[in-house]
Amino acid sequence: MNSFVLKNVSLDTGAKCDIQISDQKISGIAEGLEGDVSYDCSGLVALPGFVDLHTHLREPGYEASETVLTGSQSAALGGYTALHAMANTHPVADTAGVVEQIQSLGIQAGYVDVFPIGAVTVGLEGKRLAELGAMAKSKAQVKVFSDDGKCVSDPLMMRRALEYVKAFDGVIAQHAQEPRLTEGSQMNAGLVSSELGLAGWPAVAEESIIARDVLLAEHVGSRIHICHLSTKGSVEIIRWAKSRGIQVTAEVTPHHLLLTDEMARTYDPVYKVNPPLRTESDVLALREALIDGTIDIIATDHAPHPTEAKDCEWNSAAFGMVGLETAASVAQLVLIDSGKSDWVRLGQVMSTKPAQIAGDRNHGSLTVGSLANIVLIDPRVQRMISRDTASKSSNNPYANLTLPGAVVHTLYNGQFTVMNGELQKKEENA
Ligand SMILES: [Zn+2]
Ligand SMILES: [Zn+2]
Repeated sequence: MNSFVLKNVSLDTGAKCDIQISDQKISGIAEGLEGDVSYDCSGLVALPGFVDLHTHLREPGYEASETVLTGSQSAALGGYTALHAMANTHPVADTAGVVEQIQSLGIQAGYVDVFPIGAVTVGLEGKRLAELGAMAKSKAQVKVFSDDGKCVSDPLMMRRALEYVKAFDGVIAQHAQEPRLTEGSQMNAGLVSSELGLAGWPAVAEESIIARDVLLAEHVGSRIHICHLSTKGSVEIIRWAKSRGIQVTAEVTPHHLLLTDEMARTYDPVYKVNPPLRTESDVLALREALIDGTIDIIATDHAPHPTEAKDCEWNSAAFGMVGLETAASVAQLVLIDSGKSDWVRLGQVMSTKPAQIAGDRNHGSLTVGSLANIVLIDPRVQRMISRDTASKSSNNPYANLTLPGAVVHTLYNGQFTVMNGELQKKEENA
């Protein structure tokens, strides 16, 4: 098959047209296009394939939770064509060798582009800067660095990292958590934590690090990205920093846009996550910030864990939840079904902006001549979320919720990875 056409799609603007794909690329966007094969896409919204800037794939080292293959498959089902794999694997992705290994596992899997994120410090230990330059110069061409799971809490270390990546327009993605203020913390510090008797995780533990780091980024003149904003105060700091011209970008997760600390009343550790679920007023502030552009992107923080790590008492359970296959639905709920924003914004926060932050030119645009990385969504569907997904883990907080929208097709470099909601077997490369 040399060329094919997606007929009658709706673009983010609402315009109806056809998309023609030839040799992995978009060769036409117009009405009345022809191809060797055509697929009727009436009623489906076409957007650039989603890009997740924050995924935990767990391989190498924790293959019982997830592998690069299963995580990539889950991502494709969620409409993603690229993801950025966090460095807290075993071994840690802190050398050129490990990031190249993760990159090649991604190529073998073949469902999405897997971009390894490099660790900021050796072993995520916060003591010595990792070989950022070697990772940047490696075949994996790492641009995003993060100790995620841990905070780069030493201000001198953060300043050095920001200075280092400035040379090649890299970016540090900070997991903002002041470690001393969160020792033993289990959930958001507030009314619910005191009622339940669980150790509280104060908002200031996140906000104090963000405030410090935007000032460091300004001082150095470098870019910084803040992972998983979870509080109203964090939003206010980012808004202030942006108004000052500081080069800061910020992400929010689907779960922080939807769920609150009230969920902890179930004592079900599926709701235990880092940073913790916060209050209704935090959720509302995060939604508003996503709509007005203070928050740049939605990133999943997909964090799979095996049953034994979650099927236990709250205090001993692991932090984290899966989320690749539900992110688009939460985005639709917050941006579209609320009546407060539109598909243009949804495409920005799920694809265009995360690709830009990572310096990735192969994703994030739906234009003639670009690689055919496309997702087609049916926004009319309401679906009950099942606990099990293509992920190896089922720590899924959305199980049994009804969410809007469904990913119908995903095209990665011009090939269907998902067709009619079904994962496609990878075509053997010649
Ligand atoms: Zn994190
Ligand atoms: Zn994370």
